Amino acid sequence: MQARGTLDELEKKRRHIRSLMRYAVPDEATEDADDLLLLFRDDRTALTVLEEFYSFLPEAKNDWIKELRLVARQRGVFLIAAVASEDAYLYLVSSEGIEFNGSLREGWLDQDLLDFFEFESAEAFQQAVKDTEQIPEYQPVQVDANLCPACQVATGELHELGCPVEICPWCGGQLIHCDCRFEQLGVDEMSESDLLRFEALLEEQGRVAYAPEQRPSFADEGPGVEVD
Ligand SMILES: [Zn+2]
Ligand SMILES: [Zn+2]
Repeated sequence: MQARGTLDELEKKRRHIRSLMRYAVPDEATEDADDLLLLFRDDRTALTVLEEFYSFLPEAKNDWIKELRLVARQRGVFLIAAVASEDAYLYLVSSEGIEFNGSLREGWLDQDLLDFFEFESAEAFQQAVKDTEQIPEYQPVQVDANLCPACQVATGELHELGCPVEICPWCGGQLIHCDCRFEQLGVDEMSESDLLRFEALLEEQGRVAYAPEQRPSFADEGPGVEVD
């Protein structure tokens, strides 16, 4: 099983964003735009939004992101408002990718997404995003303890399979590193079909949902699970 969101991957994203920003950000905003990138340097979701915005500037002219706000979040899927200098834009982000969802002012979300994020109606959604200032700020994953720092599911939700923070229900160790899968399956090496069998065994045993105490320590080498 492969861990997602490795440091290398984030570093690659940051480098790409920095190179895009050189062309997109107006001179007078360079410092503030850099600060935002620094704030979200370890946050895959935010970096994905920045990369998308600066790759395909929504108004096809120079602009920059001033802040990110969190419109809704559900099972590792985020609806984020990127507030630029004149307008704000909606992005749907998950580990599967990112989708541009138009200007926040249009306030449009299709029915499936309204249901998924549990908005009662299109009007309820429009009401929720009408005033940008009222939308809570998106917190970097290092700060928001209610999010798994690796796969970004919330407290009480199941990790994405392969998440390095997920705890093994048999030994209490790190599921991607312990030997329980071999013991449970009675094999020495994992094949593709073993992986499926293991998933079934895992479900049967009961997977351990994300809880804030599983968070690895970012600041030091203290206790906690190491994200690799
Ligand atoms: Zn996770
Ligand atoms: Zn184990």
